[in-house]
Amino acid sequence: MCTKNGSCTMSMIGKVLLIVGGINWGLVGLGTLLQSGSSWNVVEMIFGPVSTLTSIIYVLVGIAGVMKIFGCKCSKCMSCTCSTDGNMENKM
Ligand SMILES: [Zn+2]
Repeated sequence: MCTKNGSCTMSMIGKVLLIVGGINWGLVGLGTLLQSGSSWNVVEMIFGPVSTLTSIIYVLVGIAGVMKIFGCKCSKCMSCTCSTDGNMENKM
């Protein structure tokens, strides 16, 4: 099986960050639409509103997104012999 898409540690971390980011923004949107008044921002719930740690999480999610576009460049993924066309392949 091809190791190009998400079997290395970097890709796994990136995938988790994208999931966290996606769910987080989904809940922020829901909270705003339902006008609940309280923030549904999971990242801010856990790490506190607009803290340095929260900002770092956002930056990491951003990096994970960019990494997803260009693909992981670690030695494990680069040594993969499969074509880059399989990069968009989704096992979900
Ligand atoms: Zn990798």
